[in-house]
Amino acid sequence: MSLDELGLRNIPHVLLASLPTPIMEAPRLAAAIGSPRLWIKRDDLTGFGFGGNKIRGLEFLLADALAQEADTLVTGAGPQSNYVRATAAAAAHAGLNMVAVYSGTTPPQVQGNYRLTRLLGADIRFTGNPDRASVDGAIEETALELRSAGRRPYPIPRGGASVLGTLGYVQAAYELATQCVNKDISPDALVLATGSCGTQAGLLAGVRLLRLPWRVEGFTVSRPVDEVKSRVLALAQAAIERLGFTRTIAPQDVIVHGGFIGPGYGVPTPEGTQAIRLAARCEGIFLDPTYTGKAMAGFLAYCNRGHFRRDETVIFLHTGGEPALFVGEGSWLNE
Ligand SMILES: *Cc1c(COP(=O)(O)O)cnc(C)c1O
Repeated sequence: MSLDELGLRNIPHVLLASLPTPIMEAPRLAAAIGSPRLWIKRDDLTGFGFGGNKIRGLEFLLADALAQEADTLVTGAGPQSNYVRATAAAAAHAGLNMVAVYSGTTPPQVQGNYRLTRLLGADIRFTGNPDRASVDGAIEETALELRSAGRRPYPIPRGGASVLGTLGYVQAAYELATQCVNKDISPDALVLATGSCGTQAGLLAGVRLLRLPWRVEGFTVSRPVDEVKSRVLALAQAAIERLGFTRTIAPQDVIVHGGFIGPGYGVPTPEGTQAIRLAARCEGIFLDPTYTGKAMAGFLAYCNRGHFRRDETVIFLHTGGEPALFVGEGSWLNE
């Protein structure tokens, strides 16, 4: 199936990412972990606005915002959100205003993604409630408030986990399939960190539409496993329908692993930190403490328990997030 047949070319998008992102073999990391043959898909290198996975979905969301003649993008999350930073960069690039709605209160230090989002000129607000879910209602309220002031807001849910946002990873599945053919790689599984679920959902939808024999295995970094499974299923199904197909995703196709969040979302874990060190020292690749480090720690543990067989081939999706390495004094990284 071509990109045309997938129906993706009919849906407007604004070019932001540098694509295709590289896919690199990671033999020293694989040896250190005792993993199957391991490749890393470098979506940390999507380039625009410090890169990461969120840039792909923003291409579709930004095009939709422009088609609706919006003048302001509105989204939110915690102050260290990669998504808010990427959305603020997209807004600046398109000449739109940006409102960032953060949970909690003003952080004591201006670091990492919060620093970058401020640098991008976003209008920043806080919900005053430390629960990140407090942002969901606040995004809608902010959009209403802007609308009644005569503005044209375009609200985007946390993480861009909407049908349009999910399409970025349907396209990524196609990109990856092409790279695998060219490099003669036959992956058994794609492994990734899952948060708001659009990335896993898009990959799963793409893999199913392209009839690829790949498992898509997410390690949750924030939500409970059951919640992630139902969100991934719903978003993947909605993406397939948006593209005009009728294929159904079976619940057993949604593979989500738990057990690596530690004390909470965004809080570094010893296993995650160990995985960050391994990737840095074996491959010169930086993982992040909130997402990719925890997913790699999960992958390592699942290799140890024999879930991934030695004769398999796995592609780890590096979803970015490196600005989090520059938050705090970093003692958690020291050995
Ligand atoms: C948002 C994010 C993820 C998770 O993607 P979702 O689509 O929200 O599940 C993974 N890694 C990084 C670095 C992210 O910023």
